[in-house]
Amino acid sequence: MTESQGQSTRAIHGSRLKDQHGAPHTPIYNTTTFKFDSTQDLLDVAEGRRRGAFYTRKGMNPSVFALEETMAAVEGAETALAFSSGMAAETALFTAYGRDGIICLGDAYGGTLELLTKQLPLLGIETTFLLGSELERLEETLKGGAKLVFLETPTNPALEVFDLAVVSELAHRYDALVAVDNTFASPVNQRPLEFGVDIVSYSATKYLGGHSDVTAGFLLGAAELIDPVWEWRQNFGSSIAPEPAALLSRSLRTLTHRVRAHNASAQKIAEALETDERVARVLYPGLASFPGHETATKQMDGFGGIITIEVAADGETTAQVADRLQLFALAPSLGGTESLATQPVTTTHHGISAEERARRGITDSMIRLSVGLEDTDDLIADLTQALDAVGT
Ligand code: PLP
Repeated sequence: MTESQGQSTRAIHGSRLKDQHGAPHTPIYNTTTFKFDSTQDLLDVAEGRRRGAFYTRKGMNPSVFALEETMAAVEGAETALAFSSGMAAETALFTAYGRDGIICLGDAYGGTLELLTKQLPLLGIETTFLLGSELERLEETLKGGAKLVFLETPTNPALEVFDLAVVSELAHRYDALVAVDNTFASPVNQRPLEFGVDIVSYSATKYLGGHSDVTAGFLLGAAELIDPVWEWRQNFGSSIAPEPAALLSRSLRTLTHRVRAHNASAQKIAEALETDERVARVLYPGLASFPGHETATKQMDGFGGIITIEVAADGETTAQVADRLQLFALAPSLGGTESLATQPVTTTHHGISAEERARRGITDSMIRLSVGLEDTDDLIADLTQALDAVGT
């Protein structure tokens, strides 16, 4: 594997670990501990003079090493740390780098908002929330001393797009780090490190896993920033276990192909929905009509598999549309082979007050679609029949 190779090649050959029996990929080392030939040998690994397997909760397991090497290669990052979930990755990020204050820019996943507003303040970690409409306040807020700017782009669920280069340049002027939750885009569509971002976080439960069968997370970036998080992870006990690690390595091997197929299908569906009068608004970064389209075109190689629509009806009728879907399963989460639909008001943003939802532009008529890998025409037909609930 070399840096000049393409992303698909790196996703398949990104790990340097070779199985002694010649397996084409690293098998599952379902092992909690590893034995050594001598005390010196053990100390060399324990004290970091030699990288080797040691104890799985520390993340020192060949299945975990192979996964992290592959993911770092796919992202083009120096180092990756794998976690038991996206929230575990975020917890390590915020506790390691958010103690001087966090600025959360734009909307974010409901669990992230809950962690930032409910648990972390109990530890003295405070967050200032700025919506996209308040971007002009970022500089003044940075002057308050916060040292970590955290954002999603595109955001959940309105797919708001932030200019990564602009945010990074401004944050760095005030010695703040920038961390981006790149879950919606995946490294196929967007690699934030290329735009000056310092740390990338993922819920690997979504596109990276891609089959709705593994829960995991990642932090990636320069070794100087990621290596210190290793100690937080080992003592929080939040590293990934060998079985999900191997499953995720399996998934990464098809990542580029899956995401490109998600992109192509979502683009077609978004264009079809834009012409349906029962849909008031289609939010999708790939549509020329979308406010963030220009910035998305600048920093993204593809526009992703998530479309948010606003049904031209009230919340109750929107729920009926959601209930009539047959191929799209009514379920939270996203990024799998099967298409999913969710009304943010009942799932991701359910725990947030109606006033706060209104402030964030989240309406009762929104449905977030995660476009899977079924045939596009079948998905369009499913949406079309479900929209018959409007006006019946
Ligand atoms: N970030 C985003 C954008 C998400 O959508 C989610 C989960 O839905 C998370 C983070 C949390 O990830 P996990 O469920 O893997 O802990």
